Amino acid sequence: MIDYQPKEHEVIVPLQAVGIQYQCEFCNEGFMMADVSKAPQAPIIPGGRPLIWHVCSKCKKTMLLPDVYPKVEYLEITATAPEQSEE
Ligand SMILES: [Zn+2]
Repeated sequence: MIDYQPKEHEVIVPLQAVGIQYQCEFCNEGFMMADVSKAPQAPIIPGGRPLIWHVCSKCKKTMLLPDVYPKVEYLEITATAPEQSEE
């Protein structure tokens, strides 16, 4: 039940939250977890986005990823397939 009252020009969009995990490339069992304590040492890839250190929840190996995992994405709930759109 949504009890938010939209203001002028506001539109309520039903969203579904999905959690996204990055499976470890070394053991294929654990999941990579962002280790933000190492963030200052992470290199910057061309384009300016920092790579983030991650540590596997199982084998404890570390790797750099261009995104932060686990992450949450909000998907618009539609009856049809989502359109292809540039990010
Ligand atoms: Zn692993």
